[in-house]
Amino acid sequence: MRRLEGGELVLASHNAGKLREIAELLAPYGFQVRSAAEFGLSEPEETEETFAGNARIKAHYAAKGTGLPALSDDSGLEVDALRGAPGVHTADWAETGNGRDFKMAMEKLWRRLEETGAPEPRTGRFVCTLCIAWPGGQDVVVRGEVSGRIVWPMRGTRGFGFDPIFQPDGERETFGEMDPARKHAMSHRADAFRKLTAACLD
Ligand code: IMP
Repeated sequence: MRRLEGGELVLASHNAGKLREIAELLAPYGFQVRSAAEFGLSEPEETEETFAGNARIKAHYAAKGTGLPALSDDSGLEVDALRGAPGVHTADWAETGNGRDFKMAMEKLWRRLEETGAPEPRTGRFVCTLCIAWPGGQDVVVRGEVSGRIVWPMRGTRGFGFDPIFQPDGERETFGEMDPARKHAMSHRADAFRKLTAACLD
């Protein structure tokens, strides 16, 4: 498996919440982290039905477009009573045609859950797939998860996306209430990062 040795690394994401968390997780490794936006890269269409497939599309697109190794994150929320939805379509649930509205998306998710009449706890997981792609076409893909339950009403204003309605197993706070350092220690992104570091950074 190919190893990543310092130097410049492009983050193949335009999502501010993910960019902040990934930059924090990468901080100890001394990369010069560049964003896809700095290179004027557009966002490729995510046409796959798996997290890994979409992560690979984004990382290869950025690596080819910049000539540098690129790191992408494809992630989402799987809710058991919704048979895994919204899954790879998590971001789409927040689309309004005029930007993303996560409050609306969380309300929609809760409404759908109420319609199913599913008993509590309404279990699910956040999934994060990370892909590093090199301009020559090689790549490494890893998947991380954190299990928990969907709670209502929304709680907390930290984090991003669906954090205010996700309470990880064994915790009393949602990701939206939790100290960011605590979220980083247990999140799906942290789990994927541990696997990525073991595979090609340490
Ligand atoms: P994509 O990977 O760009 O397709 O979008 C994934 C979507 O999943 C994001 O827009 C968020 O709504 C959601 N998501 C991924 N990770 C997190 C997280 O750590 N907290 C809350 N929502 C997340």
